[in-house]
Amino acid sequence: MNSTTIVQPAALPDTYWGQFDEISKYNVQLNYAERLWLTWYSFMQNDVLATGVMSFAMHELVYFGRSLPWIIIDCIPWFNKYKIQNQKIPTAKEQWQCAMLVLLSHFTVELPQIWLFHPLAQFFGLETSVPFPSPFKMAYQIAIFFVMEDTWHYWTHRAMHVYPSLYKHIHKIHHQYSAPFGLAAEYASPIEVMMLGLGTVGGPILWVAATGDLHILTMYVWIVLRLFQAIDAHSGYEFPWSLHHFLPFWAGADHHDTHHERFVGNYASSFRWWDYVLDTESGPEASKRRRAKAAEKQKALSAKAQ
Ligand SMILES: [Zn+2]
Ligand SMILES: [Zn+2]
Repeated sequence: MNSTTIVQPAALPDTYWGQFDEISKYNVQLNYAERLWLTWYSFMQNDVLATGVMSFAMHELVYFGRSLPWIIIDCIPWFNKYKIQNQKIPTAKEQWQCAMLVLLSHFTVELPQIWLFHPLAQFFGLETSVPFPSPFKMAYQIAIFFVMEDTWHYWTHRAMHVYPSLYKHIHKIHHQYSAPFGLAAEYASPIEVMMLGLGTVGGPILWVAATGDLHILTMYVWIVLRLFQAIDAHSGYEFPWSLHHFLPFWAGADHHDTHHERFVGNYASSFRWWDYVLDTESGPEASKRRRAKAAEKQKALSAKAQ
């Protein structure tokens, strides 16, 4: 895969940092992060276990770490002017119940999926060794994963609203909070977690199956960004500096909060283009545009009839 030769010292100490020193001595061509990474895999002596532990720990850290600022913001009245549905601040009890269900689903539904990812992706050529891929390669692959996930999310999410039985048995749980908050991003039925999770891991698996070119670090950066996207979209806050003001096709909280408030439209996760093109945008502005369009059509029809 790469031309850099990795030297594995013959005898390694038992401790992580002892191994790190030893590996560092023989692999000066690697940067600090790469040496930490290599030591982790050498220390664990089992790649699937090494990836599984690291992935799960990262997921928990990022999920709760990214939700925490939103929990704090909810406690500071100054921010209320930026809250989209500002009458509905989640109570401590609501947030606690939500966190417990999310944790349960992480351990029962997501953990096996995270564990399975490594052997499955490795079968298709997933790279876990060092050196890391270039930032450019990581960036374009992640951009592709964003577009793939958003497409998958749009159609599955829309289906869950269009078919009453899917809504009733699967998606209703996620809609328990009509004014969402960060922690509620993964508050959903286990079936939904699996279905929508497939959009997050399915893209990279298809990609590596087709090209044989994917490093697990790229996957990690993608998962972190996707978690940020999902949690921020549920935050309930819209700021003058929110990303969609600079990137008009970015969905953000402004887009998804309306979905929770109105239960219809705005089905995509990261981008606005699917909802725009297929006329499923939600909210007062979208309704206004739709009414204007209908009136125009009516006018054209009556002009034709005369
Ligand atoms: Zn929904
Ligand atoms: Zn939601």
